[in-house]
Amino acid sequence: MTFIAVRCPHCQSDQIVKRGKTTRGTQRYLCQNTLCTKGSFLLDYGNRGCLPEVKHTINDMSLNASGVRDTARSLHICPNTVLRELKKKATVLESVNTALLRTLNPAEVAWDMERAGEAEVDEMWSFVGNKGNPRWLWHAIDHHTGKVFAYVFGRRKDEGSVQLKTLLEPFGLTRYSTDHWGAYTRHLDPDVHNPSTRNTQQIERKHLTLRTRMKRLVRKTICLSKTIQMHDIVIGLFVNRYAFGRAV
Ligand SMILES: [Zn+2]
Repeated sequence: MTFIAVRCPHCQSDQIVKRGKTTRGTQRYLCQNTLCTKGSFLLDYGNRGCLPEVKHTINDMSLNASGVRDTARSLHICPNTVLRELKKKATVLESVNTALLRTLNPAEVAWDMERAGEAEVDEMWSFVGNKGNPRWLWHAIDHHTGKVFAYVFGRRKDEGSVQLKTLLEPFGLTRYSTDHWGAYTRHLDPDVHNPSTRNTQQIERKHLTLRTRMKRLVRKTICLSKTIQMHDIVIGLFVNRYAFGRAV
């Protein structure tokens, strides 16, 4: 006779008991670990979208050049499962790099004002549904370290730059390098504003990375976002994970 140890796929605990069967007749198990967030699970899921590793792979693939339907085909799940899983991320995303804000020591910033407070600000075009519906990513990074300060989505109008400026206030920036777009000239003080394409090379390189790594942003393809929600979630997820270093 052979015994196979059953482990909880969520917390890896071996304190497992049987807990009836599903309507299809598959054995259901109950995890008795009090710290486990899930509790009940199956060993053999007919519905692979329930598996934690599949859920994790959905997020990874969306940030590595796979569209919703590519992901669904590779993982043998339904496109709706992919959309549902990505939508769950909406609540955990942040627009400001709070980790960077916490490490900014006020005394150090005052002493090293020249280096600490220089930002590169730029906007990246994309669209939702059709090209008549543009959605711009407004983005600011540290000129010296390349770390992302904050990002915001909107039209290529003044609200975008105003919103981004508000998010950047806690960083105490002393210099903003941007392109010559009027939304910056109108809202930034000429003393701190440096409109020159020479100083926005780093942020433009970052935008190229976004374009290569997210299928909906690749130019000259028929890939696109169908809703504002999905557009903002996937790009937000990328910035939160790779730029802010958060475990999302
Ligand atoms: Zn468990």
